[in-house]
Amino acid sequence: MELVEIEAKTLIQKSKTPSNDYVINPYTGCVLGCAYCFASFAGRQLGRSVTEWGDYLYVKTNAVALARKELAKMPEDKRRGTMLLSSVTDPYQGHETKYRLTRGILRELKTIEYPGLVRILTKSPVVTRDIDLLTSLPRAEVGMTVTTTEDKVSRWLEVRAPLASRRLRTLAELRDAGIPTYAFVGPLLPHFATQPELLDDLLGRLVEAGVSEVFMEHINLKRYIRERMDQVLTDEPDDVREAYLQARTKEHREQLDAIVADLLTRHGLRLRFDEVVHHDDNEALRHRLASPA
Ligand code: SF4
Repeated sequence: MELVEIEAKTLIQKSKTPSNDYVINPYTGCVLGCAYCFASFAGRQLGRSVTEWGDYLYVKTNAVALARKELAKMPEDKRRGTMLLSSVTDPYQGHETKYRLTRGILRELKTIEYPGLVRILTKSPVVTRDIDLLTSLPRAEVGMTVTTTEDKVSRWLEVRAPLASRRLRTLAELRDAGIPTYAFVGPLLPHFATQPELLDDLLGRLVEAGVSEVFMEHINLKRYIRERMDQVLTDEPDDVREAYLQARTKEHREQLDAIVADLLTRHGLRLRFDEVVHHDDNEALRHRLASPA
């Protein structure tokens, strides 16, 4: 794994993701290296190919100083926007314990009493280190990505991410600390269409961990993502490879949508945006959220 320290020119960016106004990525790259990661394009500007995703990490060593400077310049009305950490990296991947960039940025948000929602999305229990800051911000919530309750599936697809079982415990710890939580069940793995009992188990465990709202997304299998997915699928049996081929179809998504609707009702869970998001529809969803009918 190659670690590179860099000085970034800017930090806070306008977000293209639904319901977030701004996004901060303190790192470029992500050592967790999930096979399905849509963010593998993010290293292109640094000359990195998608197949290198997970093998490098660029650390924006001046991220905290940039956050301080850019937040100071942000007009009052803009500070009401939702700030996401992060969209194309995990803000609590292992190197955060050394660099403490996410922690420093949260401290800057706390210093100015940032009034908008600060939204965290991670797979890492390191987030509990910052419970003191998260509970002192005016508005904060923490999302944990959990795609499966089977640790062997997690290890297969989410190569170096903390095990799913550990993430569930982290959600419970955050709940116990009084922090609003949500779970990102994304991507929805193809085998849930034929084994809905596994998704049933996952949603049940989320409820046990104190989650009341989930954000779900269908798997994104655009060509550049398939380049990496194909690497992990090569040695899999035919039926698994076939399931990932089928997952690109509208029929598959409709089948999963029906299963999800039934299970959400059974578990009493709210679905963020009232729909399972599909990457091709993100633009339409953003417009709907911006101008509700
Ligand atoms: S943790 Fe998130 S950003 Fe990192 S590789 Fe996995 S999906 Fe991508």
